[in-house]
Amino acid sequence: MNFNAGPAALPLAALDRAREELLDFEGSGMSVMEHSHRGKVYEKVHSEATALVAELLGTPLDTWDVLFVQGGASMAFAQIPMNFLGPNMTADYVVTGAWGEKAVAEARTIKALGGGEPHVAASTKGADKSYVRVPKQEELTLTPNAAYLHVTSNETIHGVEYAVGPEMPFPKAAVPIVVDMSSDILGRRVDASQFDMIYAGAQKNIGPSGVTIVALKKEMTARGRKDIPTIFQYRTVAENQSLYNTPPTFAIYLVRNTLTWLKSEGGVAAIEARNRKKAAAIYAAIDGSGGFYRCPVEPACRSIMNVVWRLPTAELEETFVKEASAQRMVGLKGHRAVGGIRASIYNAAELSWCEALAAFMKDFAKRYG
Ligand SMILES: *Cc1c(COP(=O)(O)O)cnc(C)c1O
Repeated sequence: MNFNAGPAALPLAALDRAREELLDFEGSGMSVMEHSHRGKVYEKVHSEATALVAELLGTPLDTWDVLFVQGGASMAFAQIPMNFLGPNMTADYVVTGAWGEKAVAEARTIKALGGGEPHVAASTKGADKSYVRVPKQEELTLTPNAAYLHVTSNETIHGVEYAVGPEMPFPKAAVPIVVDMSSDILGRRVDASQFDMIYAGAQKNIGPSGVTIVALKKEMTARGRKDIPTIFQYRTVAENQSLYNTPPTFAIYLVRNTLTWLKSEGGVAAIEARNRKKAAAIYAAIDGSGGFYRCPVEPACRSIMNVVWRLPTAELEETFVKEASAQRMVGLKGHRAVGGIRASIYNAAELSWCEALAAFMKDFAKRYG
């Protein structure tokens, strides 16, 4: 039972298919990763993967560019201001956790190189330096004519997610909205049309590490600067169907396998129903523990992808992780920046794992509470 935060569990069906196809891909006598990225055999995989992202995310290819790039979401933190935050411009950032902080910090480095100014439109960092919620719309100090507004839909480390219920919807703005969806992309239904750019490292919800999905409305791609290095322009990647340089073909192949599995499971609506059940099982174990377990996140913003909680002491948390691991539950140690416990329960994590974890939590609380 793999609760790793990323790289994370992959669906068995996607891995099985990879094993079966590994040595002889579609009768070609070699593996998919040995094919030219410009040959017919790989081309089919590449366009299938692109089409699956577009279909499942709701970003149709006539109005959106769907790209595969490298460097992770971390590179996007720099590449986005490089492309869109030119001199004398401002970009607004909503910060609801550690990843949003990093995005702002990278934008500041681009300012130092002659870019525009990142502005924190809202930060929900508490007095104890932690994040337990997303802001309400009226808390945002938006810049008129900002180059874009940047939002993190799910803060993976703090377990804070936007719009898990209707009370805390995504921010609205009259400028393009860019969203880092690394840890909840395709984990639930989201109306993509409210955004102008969606990006996500694949290694949490939709594949292995090594590839990043970037979807931009075509007007957004066109808006990018032309005086930055060619390879960093999203335009370059879009004009070349993500084949400007050699893409991570095997990672894209595994994204294709993973999304084929997602579709066969009933698509995003079906996976969302399952994801909500998974999260509910663990939150119920926390809330039903009489205070032994504490989730710091406000209920309206509790992530359905990364459930975080504390035990009464750091020693008990260590014992919890150790005993869970003896029961074959791995990856439960909280991020080193915040401590505590975190269960990452992306699409490929099974409901039965979450139920087993909840049962273990009840038993543990009985013994140590
Ligand atoms: C994991 C994560 C990142 C960083 O991803 P890399 O692919 O390691 O660069 C950025 N943002 C969010 C929300 C994440 O969960």
